[in-house]
Amino acid sequence: MENIIKKKFIRLSKSSISSLEKLAVEDVLDNEFLGMGPKVLEFEKMLTAFFGRKAICVSSGTSALHLALQAANIGSGDEVLVQSLTYVSSFQAISASGAIPIACDVDPKTLCLDWKDAEKKITTKTKAIMPVHYSGGVGSLNEIYKLAKKYKLRVIEDAAHAFGTEYLGKRVGGFGDISCFSFDGIKNITSGEGGCIVTDDQEVLRKASDARLLGVEKDSEKRYEGQRSWDFNVTLQGWRYHMSDIMAAIGIEQFKRFKDIKNKRKKFAKIYNQLFNESKKIISLSLNFDQVVPHIYVVLIECKTDREVIRSYLLDKGVQTGVHYQPNHTLTAFSSMNNIALDVTESIYPKLLTLPLHSDLVEDDIRYVADLLINCTKDGFFKDSNNAVKFDN
Ligand SMILES: *Cc1c(COP(=O)(O)O)cnc(C)c1O
Repeated sequence: MENIIKKKFIRLSKSSISSLEKLAVEDVLDNEFLGMGPKVLEFEKMLTAFFGRKAICVSSGTSALHLALQAANIGSGDEVLVQSLTYVSSFQAISASGAIPIACDVDPKTLCLDWKDAEKKITTKTKAIMPVHYSGGVGSLNEIYKLAKKYKLRVIEDAAHAFGTEYLGKRVGGFGDISCFSFDGIKNITSGEGGCIVTDDQEVLRKASDARLLGVEKDSEKRYEGQRSWDFNVTLQGWRYHMSDIMAAIGIEQFKRFKDIKNKRKKFAKIYNQLFNESKKIISLSLNFDQVVPHIYVVLIECKTDREVIRSYLLDKGVQTGVHYQPNHTLTAFSSMNNIALDVTESIYPKLLTLPLHSDLVEDDIRYVADLLINCTKDGFFKDSNNAVKFDN
């Protein structure tokens, strides 16, 4: 009766949690001090050493972006250039600051911000540009910094996907204006939820550091020692955006495991690339996985079959896939200020497909996924009655 063989299910993404994270969380629980304290300080020190400049930890990647914008004095009426093809987090962080997200197109080879399109959208109100390091690559980041210099714009990098990526010999976050990372459950490293802001700008650090704790001046320093401020002043709008010691404890253990996590992600992406190399139907992004640590593995499907038919077929075979992302300029909240056509984004969106990638996969999983996809994108596959008839379009 209980003879059911559990079918293997390959998840699109997931957290990779070892006994180390579990023990570290138990330690914090045993201490019965769960808020922002010495663990957050320890995690920040690790990150600061990693980037070679100061990192401050916050509650999420979204709050990192929001605080960075606020601390850079971007607010009401200002315009921020950002690619439409990003997680809704980038757009919401901009609008939370009071600024207007101006949707830009992407480079079809990297799906990163098209700086030429961004330049066309610069007005007297433009104050910042937010390049999104889509899937872990940074696109033409150098050109974006040149543009920012020419028009005196702040650059707030949405580096949520790019923890560990190197660009022109430097680590993302280790150079530039302000970089924001996410440690949500499925990112390159996780602290459960969480994020960080990395910059050299002392004023931004000061403001973001206070604003994450309701604007209470210098409260961070007290919290690191398990204290709090009783006698204080507040000079700016603040939020409850700090990181907790429970989160930091997870982050610290993940950071120690990062070398292994990074190598697996890179290796799997390289195998996908190799397997799709010959295919004219499955187009990989133009990324060098010696430098890029991929958060997601995205392909463009160039065949007549509807993407959702392919996705249902793969799901039926135990493979979960995703679509990154629904263009933000098409969402009700953002469409009124972005009543424009974005040719590349709109033509590419229906072809986007994200394949499973996380560090608990094995090479055979990657080959299995790639074989299924190569096979089902062959001409006439869904017309053949021996194949999944129910998916025939
Ligand atoms: C994950 C992510 C964020 C935000 O991070 P959270 O920690 O989930 O708030 C921002 N931008 C992009 C592109 C992301 O993928």
